[in-house]
Amino acid sequence: MDNKVLIFSAPSGAGKSTIVGHILGIWKDTMEFSISATSRAPRGTEQNGREYHFVSPDEFRRLISEDSFVEYEEVYKDHFYGTLKSEVERIWAAGHVIIFDVDVKGGVNLKKYFGEKALSIFIKAPSVETLRQRLVKRGTDSPEAIAERVEKASQEMEYAPQFDYVLINDDLATAFGEVEKVVEDFLDDGRLNYSTFI
Ligand code: ADP
Ligand code: 5GP
Repeated sequence: MDNKVLIFSAPSGAGKSTIVGHILGIWKDTMEFSISATSRAPRGTEQNGREYHFVSPDEFRRLISEDSFVEYEEVYKDHFYGTLKSEVERIWAAGHVIIFDVDVKGGVNLKKYFGEKALSIFIKAPSVETLRQRLVKRGTDSPEAIAERVEKASQEMEYAPQFDYVLINDDLATAFGEVEKVVEDFLDDGRLNYSTFI
């Protein structure tokens, strides 16, 4: 599988981690998750080098000055996240397809960077209210963080038309089936046969 990438972006709570985990589970021998660097602190069971490379704000600035990133964003105030060039090299050297889980701006930038090598997928919850309920139920964020994420979601939704495919994550089993098909087609012939819709 040569030099292909899958890009997943979504407002927080839309189900991106759930869907990325599902895809990684199916294609575990051919795909690998790109581990970003972030200046935020680990949450819950997160481990350095597994979900993220957790670095200090100073270390993050050093990585920027050394041109170590393909892209980076201040996704939430004072919380930086970036795609490391070293991850792209590592995963392609292993002959694997790269999976990116990035914010919507990062998704648009990565698609511009990788062009036809990339399939970019925007995941949407059926409504902002559903998204809020999912964040509350997930129970990993403070009420303030949930309010910030929900507030940001409507602006993030405006980026959807810039993606190759928009997946509505309403019923999970249906969303899994749809995403599997889209990814399979992309891996099979590498062509993007989808018209973007909202
Ligand atoms: P994200 O990575 O986009 O922030 P998650 O994958 O963590 O979102 O999903 C947010 C919460 O919603 C999780 O608790 C997850 O189990 C749940 N969830 C994801 N997809 C669905 C769905 N289709 N229906 C109901 N709950 C869902
Ligand atoms: P979280 O703090 O919930 O892990 O992630 C917050 C947001 O940052 C998510 O939307 C996630 O996709 C995004 N993110 C993670 N890594 C990167 C990255 O390398 N670049 C960009 N632009 N966003 C990222």
